[in-house]
This record gives sequence, structure tokens and C-alpha cells, in this order.
Amino acid sequence: MNVDRQQLGEAVAAGFADQLEWLATLVRFDSTRGNEAACQDWLAAEYAARGWQVDRYTLDEVAIEGLPGYSPVVDADYSRAVQVVATHQVPRPRGRSLILQGHIDVVPTGAPELWEHDPFEPRIVDGWMHGRGAADMKCGVSAMVFALDALRRLGYVPAATVHVETVSEEECTGNGALSTLVRGYRADAALIPESMGHKIIRAELGSVWFRLRILGQPGHVLAAAAPGAHAILAATDYIAALQQLTAQINVEARSHPHFGVVENPVKFNPGKIRGGDWLGSVPSWCELECRLSVLPGHSLPEVRARVAAAVAACADRLGTPVPALSWIGFQADGHVFGPGTEAEAVLARAHAAVLGGPLESVALTATSDTRFYDLYYGIPALCYGGHARGMHAPSEAVDLESLRRTTEVIAGFVADWCGLDPVG
Ligand code: ZN
Repeated sequence: MNVDRQQLGEAVAAGFADQLEWLATLVRFDSTRGNEAACQDWLAAEYAARGWQVDRYTLDEVAIEGLPGYSPVVDADYSRAVQVVATHQVPRPRGRSLILQGHIDVVPTGAPELWEHDPFEPRIVDGWMHGRGAADMKCGVSAMVFALDALRRLGYVPAATVHVETVSEEECTGNGALSTLVRGYRADAALIPESMGHKIIRAELGSVWFRLRILGQPGHVLAAAAPGAHAILAATDYIAALQQLTAQINVEARSHPHFGVVENPVKFNPGKIRGGDWLGSVPSWCELECRLSVLPGHSLPEVRARVAAAVAACADRLGTPVPALSWIGFQADGHVFGPGTEAEAVLARAHAAVLGGPLESVALTATSDTRFYDLYYGIPALCYGGHARGMHAPSEAVDLESLRRTTEVIAGFVADWCGLDPVG
């Protein structure tokens, strides 16, 4: 059954006011880590209302520890980490099955003084919706749900199984995505509508998260502190050492087949620091938490060994014991998504029908959930979505016209990939 492209566009447009209201509701949930349940429960009800079979579970119900792609977890309660998989099923599937996946976890808002509005009260200004999570990636979640709604408005449902998945942990481990696969949800292709500027991810960096616990030699501030004795000042030495390691890796990246064209693709972020207890004492401890990108082709054990060596060499220079080093979140492989899949060809056609022109690809200097499907489970995975800005910043916003087009592209993709049946 073939759907008329113009009608499809009109069906998306007809539902777009509802879609924006739905997206605004989604953004109003503060779904930072540990707080995702209310958001997921609302989504589960939305999915059930559409007649989809809903599987709501928490991460502690799935045995993911130690599996390929698993990232270690500290300071998180997985009995509260709710995941939702909604399934559209057909009695006699004819087409190819599909996973539509989006993450609903959002990053913390940061310094409140930097926000001009409540981060969780979305605002539309000049055709952009602002708010934490609006762009990364609740807009994408609205696109995948309302793409299916648009097809239904025209009297169609996919002629194959479609799993609509909303996960958490994308911003820190990826364990939400992993759990859906371990729980058994598979398909002939997966699509994740992250805001990619209407491009597809060809390659993405991985990342490792780690913590250094630096010990000083505590004493009264009056005592002259030897280098390294001051745990907080010593942290600046470790930061410098790890910046040097990053610069070295970026030199190697210049000949990388996918990231060679990107200037300094590998980022080191000392993102969190705490230490010391008393202003009259030389601080006896400091904990420094960091993130370092991983190039496709660089193995995680190799990257971890280089970090450990840089830390040990720095401790040696300071003449202090080597800080304890722990791996506390993302242990994510970099990955290249091979071109030439049938899924990509179908997406390129859907993209061209809405936006005109070829589907371009991009080497992403960040980490997404996409790798799980392709790298560990052999499911061709596409990451594609519309225009956004200010990801992880107070200026986070999504271009609503672009969101409408993304919704239309996804609807066209589903129609071609899954085939269509009349609503039964
Ligand atoms: Zn994202």
C-alpha cells in the first residue's frame, strides 16, 4: 500500500499543534537522572492509549552487568530507572520490523542564574521551543510518536512490528538502550531521531568517564606545602597531564579516516571536582571526575591504560602516591556506521521527498545510543533528526519547522520500510 507523500505532509501538519503541546508536556517533566519515572509513566499511558502493548520495567530487572556495551554505575538507583517499550503488532507482518528509540533523560540544568526562564517550562520564541531536553531529545520522541499518528490519521498502520522505545541513561552510560536489547527487542532496523541537523551519523566517538581520588599531606596551612601535598592544587597538575594526553591523541586523530577532517575531535572534560574540609587545613583529599572521548578504532582497554599511565606519570613527578582511579560511567566504544544499508537508502528517499537533495552524513564528536544496535546486535541503526542548538546549555532549543519536517521524514520512512496496512 502506497501513501501519497503530499497527503502525508498534510497529515503531519494537521497534528502538529497537538504535537507541540505534547512535546511541551514532555519537556515539563524534570527527567534528570533518577527522576525519569513520572515522565516514563506519562509516556506509557500515551502509548497504551494508542493501542500499543506496553512493557514498563526498571533497569534492576534486567541482567545487563558485564555485557558488551555495559557501563559501570555508581551513585544511581536502578530500581527507579524506568524504561518503556511500546509495541505495535500486526497479526500477519508483511514488511520489515523497526525500532524507534529516543532517550528521555536530560542533563542537569547547571547554574540557575544562567537561565532566563524555568528550564522545565518550555517557551516558544521565533519558531524555536526552548527548554531543557526540548532538543536533546524530547523533540525526537515526539517526532517518532506523531509520525505514527500521522499515518493513522490517513487510515494506515505499519504492516510490521514497530517497537517505540523511550529509555534513560543515554547521557551517562547507555544502559537503558542496552536493556531493551537484552530484554529481547530486536528489529530489521533501528532509528534514533537525535537532533542531527537533517544529517545521518556516519561515525561517532565513544567516551570514558573516570574519577581520580587524590590524597594530599594534610597539615596546618602555615606549613609550607610540598608540590602534590595540597590535594586540590595537585588536581590542576592531573588536569594538565590529561590535557597533554588528549593533545597527543588529537595528533593521532589527524589521520583517522572519519575524524581526520575534524579539528581536535577528542575532548577532555574535567567536569566535576570536590575536595577539602576546612579552610585552615591543607586539603587532604580531592575527587576529580572526567570524561575523555574515544576514537573509533581505539579500544577501551587501550584508552583506559593510557589514562592510567598519564596519571601515574604525573604522580611520579609530584612525588606522591598514585591516586585511585575508578571508571564511573560511560565506557562507550567509538563506532562507524557502514554506508550502503537498505535502511539508509530508504531513509535517504524519505529525506529527499521532504527536504530535497541527498542525505548527508556527519562524524559526530559525541556519543549516542545508536552504537548498541549496530555494534553489539547487528541491527542496522540510523541516527537522524532535525535542527537544534544549545545542547546541554541554557540556550537549548529546537527549530519547530525542522521538527515538523523530521516527523514527516520518519512517517515516510516507516511507510516505505514497514509497509502499510489499513487501520483494522
Ligand atoms: Zn541525546
